[in-house]
Amino acid sequence: MSGMRLVDSHCHLNLPEMKADLPGVMARAADAGIEAMVVPGIDLASSRKAVEMAERWPGVYAAVGVHPHHAASWSPAVQAEIRALGQSPRVVAIGETGLDFYRDLAPRVAQVESFRSQLDLAAECALPVIVHSRSASPEVLAELETWAARSHHRNGRPPGVLHAFSGDLQGAGRAIALGFLLGVAGPVTYPKADDLRTTLSSIPCEHLMVETDAPYMAPVPHRGCRNEPAYVALVACGLATALGLDAVELASRTSGNAARLFGWKHDDTNRNLL
Ligand SMILES: [Zn+2]
Repeated sequence: MSGMRLVDSHCHLNLPEMKADLPGVMARAADAGIEAMVVPGIDLASSRKAVEMAERWPGVYAAVGVHPHHAASWSPAVQAEIRALGQSPRVVAIGETGLDFYRDLAPRVAQVESFRSQLDLAAECALPVIVHSRSASPEVLAELETWAARSHHRNGRPPGVLHAFSGDLQGAGRAIALGFLLGVAGPVTYPKADDLRTTLSSIPCEHLMVETDAPYMAPVPHRGCRNEPAYVALVACGLATALGLDAVELASRTSGNAARLFGWKHDDTNRNLL
């Protein structure tokens, strides 16, 4: 898969699962053609860790925020800390935030409050937002539409991404109408994911990015194992096949979309991750 220029737009290098062999993970990412990676926080501690990593590794950028699973920890004090972290030039987004009504690890009312508050914080910081949505698509889209109606930020640049997109075409259309990008992850390679591939096949490439969501959701043939950024090449190949595009072309175009969303220059990403 040489010749690909890739971005992993969502990987949790800040989690314990990645810690033991991080230098190897980074070396394999560089070998796979990855030029930039975005590491989202899931709570305050992992957001701090994401910023630390982004300040240390040239190709790593951070997002700071509180995942819906940890929404009960959201408070004015945490908000103030996330806002302060957002001042780092290495922070390119707020997130990941959103709603998860599948696992319901935090009370839904807390999830909604934390999500709204982080959407407003993104607007205040003029940063895009990374959105997690699971079994909550109507609620997430309604929140995003309400937010878009009340806030004018980013001057026409994309307001965010629905990461690990798994919704239907109608949901995709509503997100795209708001200017959101869709992040495509490992499931695009799963044998039974024909519905997802069919949905994606009718979405123009300009609205798509690729991601691993490492350490979770490894693509075929690593499904069930720990995921890592190098495998984003497999996601890109799976998506290219679904779209009927050449994989090198798809990789380049989705990397350009990531640059547009996160605000780094496409030709300016660090060719040497290490
Ligand atoms: Zn994630």
